[in-house]
Amino acid sequence: MPEKILVQADYILAWNEYFEIIIQGEIVIEDSNITYQGPRQERSLESFSRVISGDLVMPGFVNAHTHAAMTLFRGYADDIPLMEWLEKKIWPVEARLKKEDIYWGTLLAICEMIKGGTTCFADMYFHMEEVARACWESGIRASLAQGLIGLDKIKGMTGLKESKSLIQNWHRKGDGRITIMLGPHASYTCPPAYLQKVMKMAEQLDVPIHIHLAETRGEVEECLKVYGKTPVNLVNDLGLFEHDILAAHCVHLSPGEIDLLAEKEVAIAHNPGSNLKLGSGVAPLIDLLKKDALVSLGTDGAASNNNLDMVEEMRLAALLQKGLGEDARAIPAQTALKMATLNGSGALFLDEEVGTLRKGSKADLIIMQLKKPHLFPLHNLLAHLVYSAGSSDVDLVMVNGKVLMEKRKLLTIDEERVLFETQKRALELVKG
Ligand SMILES: [Zn+2]
Repeated sequence: MPEKILVQADYILAWNEYFEIIIQGEIVIEDSNITYQGPRQERSLESFSRVISGDLVMPGFVNAHTHAAMTLFRGYADDIPLMEWLEKKIWPVEARLKKEDIYWGTLLAICEMIKGGTTCFADMYFHMEEVARACWESGIRASLAQGLIGLDKIKGMTGLKESKSLIQNWHRKGDGRITIMLGPHASYTCPPAYLQKVMKMAEQLDVPIHIHLAETRGEVEECLKVYGKTPVNLVNDLGLFEHDILAAHCVHLSPGEIDLLAEKEVAIAHNPGSNLKLGSGVAPLIDLLKKDALVSLGTDGAASNNNLDMVEEMRLAALLQKGLGEDARAIPAQTALKMATLNGSGALFLDEEVGTLRKGSKADLIIMQLKKPHLFPLHNLLAHLVYSAGSSDVDLVMVNGKVLMEKRKLLTIDEERVLFETQKRALELVKG
């Protein structure tokens, strides 16, 4: 007998083709899938193994770009620009990271993400087998990429070998929750010949590619100096955009490059919090969306944000563009919500399996509490979610039909142990 769960709510943000809000609705979940979504029906409750009720049910957030285990360096190196931050602070401590550190750091990130309503994330880091283990145990959904650096020939080849075994061991594992991408870090750490090897492997193994692209002005200037082209044009000329690409940041783009990214259907992960904090700039979000580019939202790592809070990221994405463009109509609440959910599913090449509550999609959903002073009175639900809500309003989280958090208590992770382990390990790491 498949497990059958009934979720009833005052409001369901279904994100179906009409972006409909169903009042007094319900969702039926059988195993890992949604089999009904709509108005309440006469049903015999005995056929359900569980009945859950709440104020608002909506799709879980998809964090389209992060480095989960960097939670270990949260608050360790702040107020420094990107290259100095990487070279002087982050890379030296990352060189000391052991497998177990990555496992615990990732679990800390997963605790934080589940508590904030994130049900799926795209990660790029090292020792990804440990990240996969943390995802497998915790029940969250993720698309994982081993970060590849091609500046050193031996390290570059080792990274590719590790990526291949990661795909063999983990792609579509954990009831399909875990998928793997290839993760060439950026055009400034992966020279053209190496990127070509990555593309060849992506084609052979049929996996997407996750890369950082045009994050800072310095990156663009350096690329122009070395190759006579911008990073976007460099990787396009190499044929990168002929593959399934998730490109993080895309902050510094010319109008022609915006057209190109949209036309080539490159998935973009917009990370406003990290771009602001590292002083990298503000991505041309309005122009990208005008051209129908697929833009999702990410937090980036916790060392450059400094949290993994998708509610905050939605608000930043919307407010930043309104202020900069002196246009209150820029990025309406519905657009910000769509970037944080449905567009994330597209960006992770999950074919709208998640980020929506359609019949047939995966049961990755969250319940938000609405009976709180900062959410009263209720005129417009979408506006509340983007402009008034906090991630701590998330009360229940379900991934693949399994409840991972209920009444804000994590059910698959020993939160206290994770806090203890990460505090101990983080202090040892920065001591050197
Ligand atoms: Zn990043």
